[in-house]
Amino acid sequence: MRIVVASDAGICYGVKRATTAAFAAAATAPGPVYTLGELIHNPQVVKQLEQMGVRVADDAASVGTGTVIIRSHGLPPEVLKALEAQGAGVLDLTCPTVKAVQQRAATLAREGYEVVIIGDRDHPEVEAIAGYAGPAAIIVNSEEEAAAVPRTEKMGIVIQTTHDVTTCRRIVDVLFDKGREIRIFNTLCDATAKRQKGALELARDVDVMVVVGGRKSANTGRLAEICRRAGAETHHVETAAELKADWFGAAEAVGVTAGTSTPDWVIDEVVAKLKAFTPGAG
Ligand code: SF4
Repeated sequence: MRIVVASDAGICYGVKRATTAAFAAAATAPGPVYTLGELIHNPQVVKQLEQMGVRVADDAASVGTGTVIIRSHGLPPEVLKALEAQGAGVLDLTCPTVKAVQQRAATLAREGYEVVIIGDRDHPEVEAIAGYAGPAAIIVNSEEEAAAVPRTEKMGIVIQTTHDVTTCRRIVDVLFDKGREIRIFNTLCDATAKRQKGALELARDVDVMVVVGGRKSANTGRLAEICRRAGAETHHVETAAELKADWFGAAEAVGVTAGTSTPDWVIDEVVAKLKAFTPGAG
């Protein structure tokens, strides 16, 4: 059985930066250290941080004056203000690429554009961008939702960094008829686009795909969806322990890819276990 890891797979710059800084802060920051929500969608990393004393808080009020780590998804400006007002120490690890989207949304709103965010309204990155885009911002995540957007004179579009390229193109096509002046910023992140492209190419070339990443990770879920759409039997796992030998019984080639919050060591463990299923595999 041939085992191939996708050309671009696993942890991205923004998540690596946040994780490295969070581990450093866990060791050195004064007082209790919190993350607002889980730092990354990877239960193994969250557990390691917990063992170092980093607690996961659900809201700003519950962190008091402790140190708060802002994860790569960012936070709405009103939550950041509340943290500062209550005297919390803020370690802002918002990914610079996400910050750029927030600034684009704020600028569009300031310049009088109807801001449309293409993304999942329940995703923390989108919630934060919406905070910068103002109360009139519209979030759409499908062609049907785009069709319901009212026509406007000036429309400004930004995109959740980890969204699926194909879906975005379709949504933008529908929005094209909705405004006289339309400004669109392609704010898809290169890291995500490269992982999606690598996953698609590999899925077309193998019998079975293993997609590694947290169950709550939206970008990992999208990779699995892309692999399925490409026709490969696809299994989404968080760790090597979930792999089952009978998934690969008749497979000549198995592909492996991973979401942007999956550390390299988790991918290495998956590949090692796949090799153990078929001694002599390469
Ligand atoms: S996927 Fe891109 S935007 Fe999101 S954290 Fe990683 S580098 Fe930043």
